[in-house]
Amino acid sequence: MESASVNAAEQHECRQCCTFCDRVVHPSGCIESRCAYLYLFDDEQTGQRFMGCMNKVFRAEIEVEAFEQAQRTRHGFGGVKMTGRPIPRCRTSVEKAYGGYGEPFDCVNPRFFDSPVEPDPAFDLRDRL
Ligand code: SF4
Ligand code: SF4
Repeated sequence: MESASVNAAEQHECRQCCTFCDRVVHPSGCIESRCAYLYLFDDEQTGQRFMGCMNKVFRAEIEVEAFEQAQRTRHGFGGVKMTGRPIPRCRTSVEKAYGGYGEPFDCVNPRFFDSPVEPDPAFDLRDRL
């Protein structure tokens, strides 16, 4: 089970040139779209509230207070590493770790920037046929 999720995570990273790209999900989109897969829970020991994705599009559990603080800054919270296949309502992007000029930074895998989205199973029209 764990190896499957590791493989899924690896599908969302490209290291074929020196740019080092990762697909990320923006939790701000989960909140704005009121996604039903977004869950919240409170840590009884610390009192901290966390949020996560039931769909495991991202596996990180994010502390809500830290997220809200970051959202109030100019750059916002940003994205977290994508570990599963997103659905249309997920806000996704590709983050580049390094920038540079010349051949070492020339993209040799442009399809990595294609959308990784799959249809939302909740809206799968085949169920109605
Ligand atoms: S399915 Fe997408 S929009 Fe919904 S909680 Fe997960 S990452 Fe966010
Ligand atoms: S720029 Fe292209 S080849 Fe380089 S890491 Fe990103 S996706 Fe891969």
